[in-house]
Amino acid sequence: MKKIAVMTSGGDAPGMNAAIRAVVRYAVNNDMKVLGIRRGYAGLLDEDFIEMDFASVGGIMEKGGTILRSSRCPEFVRKETRAEAAKILVKHGVEGLVVIGGEGSLHGAMFLEEEQKVPVVGIPGTIDNDIALTDMSIGVDTCLNTVVDAIQKLKDTASSHERAFIVEVMGRSSGYIATVSGLVTGAEAIVIPEIPVNYEALGNKILRERERGKINCIVVVAEGAASAYTVARHLEHRIGYETRITILGHIQRGGSPTAFDRLLASRMGVAAVEFLKRGTSYVMTSLQGGKIVPAKLDEVLKQKKSLNMELVELTSLLS
Ligand code: ADP
Repeated sequence: MKKIAVMTSGGDAPGMNAAIRAVVRYAVNNDMKVLGIRRGYAGLLDEDFIEMDFASVGGIMEKGGTILRSSRCPEFVRKETRAEAAKILVKHGVEGLVVIGGEGSLHGAMFLEEEQKVPVVGIPGTIDNDIALTDMSIGVDTCLNTVVDAIQKLKDTASSHERAFIVEVMGRSSGYIATVSGLVTGAEAIVIPEIPVNYEALGNKILRERERGKINCIVVVAEGAASAYTVARHLEHRIGYETRITILGHIQRGGSPTAFDRLLASRMGVAAVEFLKRGTSYVMTSLQGGKIVPAKLDEVLKQKKSLNMELVELTSLLS
C-alpha cells in the first residue's frame, strides 16, 4: 500500500490528535504517503486535503480537539454520495482510509467498503464509550477526568453550604460517564438511561444520608436519562432543602488528553496502519483484554455496547 488517507469525523474527542500523529508517523516510517482529509466526510467530498509528513504532526499529541477538524455531513447517508467519495479517493491514489470517530462515522466507513470497495479501518473516538466490542474508546478517560475534577469542585461548595448539587453530564444513550464519575466521587445517586429513575426512593436515600451526618449531596445525571432541571424539581420538595444545577456541557469534550488516551490513541493509530498494510480492512481497532485487535465493522455496529451493571452495583455497595 503506497498511499493512505486519514480523517476525523462526527463529535470530537480528546486523543484524536494523538491518533492522527500515530497514523501519519507509522505510515511515513513504512514508506507510505498520507493524505489528511479535513472536516470529515464533508471535506472528503470537497477535496479539502493536505499532504501530511512526519513534521506535520509534531507537537499535537497533547492537544485536545482535532487538527484535521471535524464535521457532520448528513448527505453521506446516501449511497450516491458515497460513490462520489470513493471516486475522489481513487482519483487521488488513496488505497486505504482510516476514519477516527464515533458510531455514525464508523457506519459511513463501513458502507464505503461494503459498497464502494474502499479498504477502511475505523478507530473508535468518542467520549460516550458506547461503541461495542472495544473496552474503551479514545477520549473516554480524559472526559471522565474532566467530569471528576468538576464534581470534586462542586462538592466543596456543596459541603460549605450544605446543599444538593445536580450535575448533568454527557451520555445520550449510555450512562457510563455518569456511573463511573459518580462512583469515583462518592455521589449519592446516579440517574442513567439504563435504569428507570424512582424519585421517591432517591429522595429517601438522600434524607437518610443527611441523617447519617453527610453534609453534601451530589446527584449525577446522564443527559439521556433526564434533564438536571427535571431531577431537581422532583427532588427539591422531597428533601426539603435547596438544590443547585450544573450542566457540564461541552467542557467534557475538550482538553489535553490523559496519558491513558494518548497511549490508546498511539496504539490504535499504529494498529490501523498495520492492518491496512497487511490487507486487513473492514475492521475497527479494538481494545480487548489489554490487546489491540481487529473487530469487524459490521459486528461492531450491529450491537449496542451495554453498560457493565457491576459498576452500577458497586456504586450502591459503596454508598
Ligand atoms: P459520531 O461519528 O460522533 O457518532 P455522527 O453520528 O454525527 O457522529 O456521524 C458523523 C458523520 O458520519 C455524519 O455526519 C455522516 O456524515 C456519517 N454518518 C453517520 N451515520 C451514517 C450512516 N448511517 N451512513 C453513512 N454515513 C453516516
